[in-house]
Amino acid sequence: MDLEFTSAELAFREEVRAFFAENVPAEWLTRVRAGLRLEPQELIAYQKALAAKGWGAPTWPVEYGGPGWSPAQNYIFESESARAGAPIQFHQGLELIGPIIFTYGSQELKDRYLPGIINADDWWCQGYSEPGAGSDLASLRTTAVRDGDHYVLNGQKMWTSYAQVASHMFVLARTSQEPKRQQGISLLLVDMNTPGIAIRKIETMDEKYTTNEVFLDDVRVPVGNLVGEEGRGWEYGKVLLDRERMVCSATAIHLPQVLDGVREAASARKVRGMPLIETPAFAAQLAQLEIEAMALETMVLRLLADLASGADSGPRGSMVKLRWSDLYQRGTALWIEALGPEAAHFRALEGQGPVDMPYAMQGALYSRVTSIYGGSSEIQHNIIARRALGL
Ligand SMILES: Cc1cc2nc3c(=O)[nH]c(=O)nc-3n(C[C@H](O)[C@H](O)[C@H](O)COP(=O)(O)OP(=O)(O)OC[C@H]3O[C@@H](n4cnc5c(N)ncnc54)[C@H](O)[C@@H]3O)c2cc1C
Repeated sequence: MDLEFTSAELAFREEVRAFFAENVPAEWLTRVRAGLRLEPQELIAYQKALAAKGWGAPTWPVEYGGPGWSPAQNYIFESESARAGAPIQFHQGLELIGPIIFTYGSQELKDRYLPGIINADDWWCQGYSEPGAGSDLASLRTTAVRDGDHYVLNGQKMWTSYAQVASHMFVLARTSQEPKRQQGISLLLVDMNTPGIAIRKIETMDEKYTTNEVFLDDVRVPVGNLVGEEGRGWEYGKVLLDRERMVCSATAIHLPQVLDGVREAASARKVRGMPLIETPAFAAQLAQLEIEAMALETMVLRLLADLASGADSGPRGSMVKLRWSDLYQRGTALWIEALGPEAAHFRALEGQGPVDMPYAMQGALYSRVTSIYGGSSEIQHNIIARRALGL
């Protein structure tokens, strides 16, 4: 991959910069910098602005509404987005179920659902995990039993992010009992307004409410909402999990923002009369993180180059996810250190103290989940051991 931009790419970069300058309100910046997701209505507004520009689905093929960008353009878009402090697009419709629908879904499903994803008219949530079926997803127990032209869903989903605001959920459910647990699982698209769906909220330690338990009690789903073939949901689900890890590639490019926060806080705070950033121990920690973030960015570029040439990126999605979650956790922890003990009172501060203080703490607490969701770090280690090292 040629890392010098062409003049056309430089012109594209200007266009992207102008778009972000117009469409990223200042009040988003501190939250985005801390690696936090914005509120759903803000993400919807952002997605609608992108869609109006024709940039709603950067990674999709042109025939389904993608912009047809080269990997270099994709990189420019993501890095400029990070530079501008723009949020990361909400991924569950766009990067997870959307590509599954255009790859395996019927024409009817494509026509019905893809425009709603790009234009943010629909909000999708992911109904995979269950109590007792997280890393070991194949042990899921939710059933989908055929009854005429419907499937009838019964079971419980766990940790379903944003189920409370979602219009639709993609669900893995067992359509037959097979000796091999990965067989007999199907992927269904469910309208969240269907009778029989109950949602119970789970609040997490960052004092946010994004996750839920979802109870499915005789939920009737039209047979036409089956994606691909009955019983092959595991195959589609695996593709989707790989993609979820790839989403981290885009997110990894935003890491330097967290480090900008660390740098600013450590410049502002004095310890024994000296700016914290000038103390050798702190400066060394920050430099180490900066080096590792740069190395990760290079890894992401290689991944993009592999994708462009059609090469199998192997376990690199896992490697990026592992490194990103580690660096994000260490980065936000260092930010808290830079802000000092007051950062601990993040809720009580209410506008007092540096503007980034509550968000830095919320970011640090939220960062804990990045080594759990999308496949925990232990699972990523297993994948790397098996697929990269042949152990
Ligand atoms: C905030 C949050 C949001 C989430 N959002 C969603 C969502 O929207 N939709 C959805 O479907 N799911 C979601 N999840 C679920 C997430 O994907 C699971 O939590 C994750 O897959 C881990 O599964 P588990 O919680 O059952 O832990 P377990 O699988 O029980 O794992 C417990 C521990 O054991 C380790 N472990 C398990 N198996 C192995 C092994 N074979 N080798 C080594 N170590 C192992 C794990 O790494 C972990 O440390 C979310 C989770 C959280 C916390």
